[in-house]
This record gives sequence, C-alpha cells and structure tokens, in this order.
Amino acid sequence: MRTAPPPALGRVVVVGAGMVAHRLVAGLVERAPQDGWHVTVLGDEPWAPYDRVHLSELVTAGRTPDDLALDPTV
Ligand SMILES: Cc1cc2nc3c(=O)[nH]c(=O)nc-3n(C[C@H](O)[C@H](O)[C@H](O)COP(=O)(O)OP(=O)(O)OC[C@H]3O[C@@H](n4cnc5c(N)ncnc54)[C@H](O)[C@@H]3O)c2cc1C
Repeated sequence: MRTAPPPALGRVVVVGAGMVAHRLVAGLVERAPQDGWHVTVLGDEPWAPYDRVHLSELVTAGRTPDDLALDPTV
C-alpha cells in the first residue's frame, strides 16, 4: 500500500503522550499550521494527555478528569 509523501517539514515521532508531548505537538502546529510536520504520537496510556501536575486535585479539590483534560484539538 502506498502512503502520501511526507510534507515539506518532515516527520516527527513522539514517544509518550504526556503533558510535554502535548505542548510539543501544540508548538509544532502553532508554528506550521498547514502543510507542516507529520506528527505521530505513541502513547501507552488508555486516555488522552491530561494535566498530571494537578492530578492530586481529583481527591483534594473535587476536580473531575474533564477538568484536567488538555486541549483535545491538538
Ligand atoms: C500526583 C502528582 C503531582 C504532581 N505535582 C506536580 C507539581 O505540583 N509541580 C510539578 O512541576 N510537577 C508535578 N508533578 C510532576 C508532573 O506531573 C510531571 O513533571 C509531568 O507530568 C512530566 O510531564 P512529561 O510529559 O514529561 O511526562 P509524563 O507526564 O510522565 O508523561 C510521559 C508519558 O509517556 C508515556 N510513556 C513512557 N514511556 C513510554 C513508551 N516507551 N512508549 C509509550 N509511552 C510511553 C507515559 O505512560 C506517559 O503517558 C506531579 C506528578 C504527580 C503524579
């Protein structure tokens, strides 16, 4: 099976889908929103990246997982 040729800026493979990966991908998209990087993120958690710094607040401050969600459009 053929795949499309890589875009002009090339390919990035990010291993791990945590906060830093999320910020990295957001930065790549901000700098080249169209025809930019072809990004593949390999994560080993069953949920989308979230704000792990505030994880304790699920218990201490009654926050919900949705409160910790990072921008899903990235
Ligand atoms: C309860 C708690 C409270 C915290 N409080 C603070 C705080 O107050 N201030 C602060 O600065 N920091 C705090 N931290 C630390 C902060 O969460 C981390 O510094 C931050 O999450 C690091 O982001 P990261 O994206 O580099 O790594 P991580 O958030 O650890 O994300 C890495 C991701 O990569 C995945 N991964 C790893 N190896 C592989 C692999 N081989 N293949 C695929 N996926 C892989 C992991 O499963 C994970 O999803 C806290 C952490 C916790 C748990």
